[in-house]
Amino acid sequence: MSRALHVCRACDGLSTDPADGVIVMHELGNSGPGWTVWAHREHADDVELIDPVLLQIMTRIWVAQAAAQ
Ligand SMILES: [Zn+2]
Repeated sequence: MSRALHVCRACDGLSTDPADGVIVMHELGNSGPGWTVWAHREHADDVELIDPVLLQIMTRIWVAQAAAQ
């Protein structure tokens, strides 16, 4: 039985009970498979979903800014 820890996107609290956690989105990583975003079941509606296309554009900008510093 796996007891993976997930961080709630809405409150940054740890979710240790699989029944209490819901997947709200999957983010793509620059290098790698990306990661799954979790939230407490009662907080899922509070998570602000970012448009994946916008997130990709912003990620490129952030990487470029970091490289320029
Ligand atoms: Zn939460």
